[in-house]
Amino acid sequence: MERTLIKETPERIGEKVELFGWVDSRRDHGKLIFFDIRDRSGIVQAVVTPKSAAYEEANKLRDEWVIRVVAEIKARPEKMINEGLSTGTVEAAISELEVLNESETPPLPLKGDGMDIDEDVRLKYRYLDLRRERLQKNIKLRSEFVDRCRQFLFERDFSEIETPMLTKSTAEGSRDFVVPSRLHKGKFFALPQSPQQYKQLLMTAGFERYFQLARCIRDEDLRADRGFEHTQIDMEVSFVDRDEFMKMDEEMITTVVEAMGYKIKEKPFPRISYKTAINEYGGDKFDLRNEAEKQDGVLAFAWVTDFPFFEKADDGGYTFSHNPFSAVMPESLDDLLKGENVENIISSQYDLVCNGFEVGGGSIRAHRADWLEAALKIMGMDEEKIQKDYGHMLEAFKYGTPPHGGIAHGVERMIMILSGEEYLREVQAFPQSSSGRTSVMNAPEPISDDQLKELGLKIDIKKDKE
Ligand code: ASP
Repeated sequence: MERTLIKETPERIGEKVELFGWVDSRRDHGKLIFFDIRDRSGIVQAVVTPKSAAYEEANKLRDEWVIRVVAEIKARPEKMINEGLSTGTVEAAISELEVLNESETPPLPLKGDGMDIDEDVRLKYRYLDLRRERLQKNIKLRSEFVDRCRQFLFERDFSEIETPMLTKSTAEGSRDFVVPSRLHKGKFFALPQSPQQYKQLLMTAGFERYFQLARCIRDEDLRADRGFEHTQIDMEVSFVDRDEFMKMDEEMITTVVEAMGYKIKEKPFPRISYKTAINEYGGDKFDLRNEAEKQDGVLAFAWVTDFPFFEKADDGGYTFSHNPFSAVMPESLDDLLKGENVENIISSQYDLVCNGFEVGGGSIRAHRADWLEAALKIMGMDEEKIQKDYGHMLEAFKYGTPPHGGIAHGVERMIMILSGEEYLREVQAFPQSSSGRTSVMNAPEPISDDQLKELGLKIDIKKDKE
């Protein structure tokens, strides 16, 4: 017999089917045993009568046991139909039952949204927490979103290309996570804060249209919408200008979210300059929805453009406001190259905001060595520092790097908006805790003395600080 998925049971009335899944909400009514069977596609009510050969075995069942059953799918009498359930018109009368695995009583309730359960408990038992309907939905929504973006990009001749996880430490706006090297003792890799430089090098390499579901790892102060790890839909395209790129990206977002059934407030997305955003909305992440639109789950996208390239650094000099690899707008190029009028130099950066969150950011890049060098000099770097940190990019730009630009969309932020969740951890399968520890497994943790020796490392913190 071939497995039937639970969602298909309403079309199988009168047939004997084989179902696999978990016992959900067992309840007894007199001699009748009722429970729901849950698989990845849904739940269906099962009933076992005292006449059934499975009765004795069914009597032992507890919630979350894993079972295989053979059952006849029966139409429920009119007044027993459960409108709130997609399989509410049927029930499965079980004639055969096999227990595939038992389960202890779960240490946390799996019904309900789980919001009032202690975070540490939810994350320690994340594999159970994830059985919760809300989280199943969120994780699948994420998968669908990513799948649709992929389809869109493949249809437009993009190649999906992976870039290294062990890479070089560069200032990209956040703190690095570093990995000690065994072969080169005393030296460190950094985990990528983003694939920014590699994706630009792929443009030098002639791929023209790149994307990646990129894991970005940043040692940041944790917040509701920020973790150490997040995923970006990371894209880069050659031979585009700012408007062409924004238009294509907007088409992707529009196509994907509309296909998923969401309504967009305004198309094309309004474009708002950074200055206007600050003056009119008091910030560059604003919410354009009215109350009714908030209730209806409408998505209000907008582009923010024309950011100043540089901002004042704490040391009195300048730093980049978004991305040191961005190009400036053509009208600012002269100022950039001369290092003049620095505060009025406008970046080609474009940010995408939606319902008060930043859900994407990108720019047209400096594809010429003199452009990048000029920006780095304004930020106070001397020749030696520039060569040490950015020399590989300047070198690559000598060999026919095409003009290019791209963007990265934060997947978690998008899914938080689409699902109405307020916390990043509700849309990641195995998130970090708010104190920066892993789900399920205990990390970070000390490594053995042997490992330390092999890496040439000595730990110099007082034990009592741990
Ligand atoms: N690399 C940038 C970031 O991670 C995004 C981009 O400009 O493509 O924020």
